[in-house]
Amino acid sequence: MNLEEAKNKLKSYGNFDVVVAGGGTAGAVATIAAARNGVKTLVVEQFGFLGGSATAALVIPMMPNHIKGEPLVRGINQEIQKRLLDLGYAAIDRGGNEGWFNPEALKFVLEDMVLEAGGKILYYTFVEDVIMKDNEVKGVVIVNKSGRQAVFSKIVIDATGDGDIAALAGVPFESGRREDGKSQPMSLRFMVGNVDFNKLSKFLLENDKKSYVDLPLIEFAMVPGNGWPLEKYFKEGVEEGILEESDIVYFQAFSVPGMPGVIAFNCPRIIGDYKGSNADHLTEAVIQGRKRISRLFKFLKSKIPGFENSYIALVAPMVGVRESRRIVGEYVLTAQDYFDAKKFEDAISRNRYPIDIHLPTDRLPYERTLGLEEYHEVPYRSIVPTKIENLIVACRALSASFEAHGAIRIQPNMRAIGQAAGVAAALCIKKGVKPRQLDGRELRKVLVEQGAYL
Ligand SMILES: Cc1cc2nc3c(=O)[nH]c(=O)nc-3n(C[C@H](O)[C@H](O)[C@H](O)COP(=O)(O)OP(=O)(O)OC[C@H]3O[C@@H](n4cnc5c(N)ncnc54)[C@H](O)[C@@H]3O)c2cc1C
Repeated sequence: MNLEEAKNKLKSYGNFDVVVAGGGTAGAVATIAAARNGVKTLVVEQFGFLGGSATAALVIPMMPNHIKGEPLVRGINQEIQKRLLDLGYAAIDRGGNEGWFNPEALKFVLEDMVLEAGGKILYYTFVEDVIMKDNEVKGVVIVNKSGRQAVFSKIVIDATGDGDIAALAGVPFESGRREDGKSQPMSLRFMVGNVDFNKLSKFLLENDKKSYVDLPLIEFAMVPGNGWPLEKYFKEGVEEGILEESDIVYFQAFSVPGMPGVIAFNCPRIIGDYKGSNADHLTEAVIQGRKRISRLFKFLKSKIPGFENSYIALVAPMVGVRESRRIVGEYVLTAQDYFDAKKFEDAISRNRYPIDIHLPTDRLPYERTLGLEEYHEVPYRSIVPTKIENLIVACRALSASFEAHGAIRIQPNMRAIGQAAGVAAALCIKKGVKPRQLDGRELRKVLVEQGAYL
């Protein structure tokens, strides 16, 4: 919608310095960072809570992103984890991963941090359009119970995960892998309650040397054909008709800090060529996912000790989308940059997590590189879109190749990128410059002053 039309036809919700579209993993942190830097910031979120994939899609725990045992993402990311730890809703495992957290508690912590910073939250609201003047974003159109309204802002941060705002504004984007355009598969995650942890851990210690058992922390997994000890139980489930072959292409489960007796699952994988930016695909994915969850649950109850008296506690309200749109930004991060451990003057995040690609097939589970000895960096230019002004894309839709995206998509990096986007937006407003004109080296300096490790 153009600016004149928005002014004439829509009721105004208000004028802001920064509007963050989507209060997810990156968006919540971007809101905290922008508001802390003294600019008037609104976050618009379709659900009634913050956290996005971490809370709505039940993506737990955060994957580690360390070098020599030291976390590469600090700043607001560590503040969030510290608050959760102090409340007893996070945990550190023997490998030093401090990323175990309770998704329900994260909703409280993020909301508190946004409000303490002076940010404004608008829940139950969908961003459905952009307000444009030529190639400049001037705000967004929102829709909710109060109707359709215009929100005017100097900078918009697209933190929708799927790059909805960038696509609406006309930013060029790619999606999926080069050879066939297929994206990484989605998963519909779920939680099961009343699991007998003593029985389960005894079974795992006796039967699954690959599992991690250090009560109350438990992790176990199974990927067919990869020598995972639990495979024989899953095969039995398939032979007995409890499971379908495609239900077991990837299975992973974790306990949840502060939720005794609860196991959360990083599965089932959704089979099919689905896009996170297509509402029919999302619907089909959830329907397919629930059918798979019914079968998996029946399997767990009958074959895995500890699950006999369990129940399905929660199916994620949001299907987990690993990858959908990726914008073409001022810099496109590549796998070569990853392998070269490339550093940038305008770095906003450091990553050492492997290129971790769940393959879009019902047969092959995933491809994973070994973690680098060194870290590589993500430049500010990869969150600045080409063609369109006043927009920053701070979410997994940032500018990266399919492969590079597979490494940087994890939550600690998204939080680092969120913090960078919030600070960048505030600097732009204070200096009266557009995101493309902002000196990334200066941004980096301010980020370091504010706790980032760069
Ligand atoms: C199945 C799965 C397993 C994963 N496993 C791990 C793991 O083990 N560890 C790890 O660290 N990472 C993991 N990841 C990756 C990581 O969780 C995501 O890449 C990351 O959370 C994405 O953050 P984001 O901010 O880009 O998007 P999100 O956190 O998804 O945030 C997007 C937000 O925008 C909102 N939104 C979207 N569109 C609109 C709109 N138009 N209007 C209003 N609001 C909107 C959404 O409701 C959401 O809150 C996994 C991801 C998936 C899907």
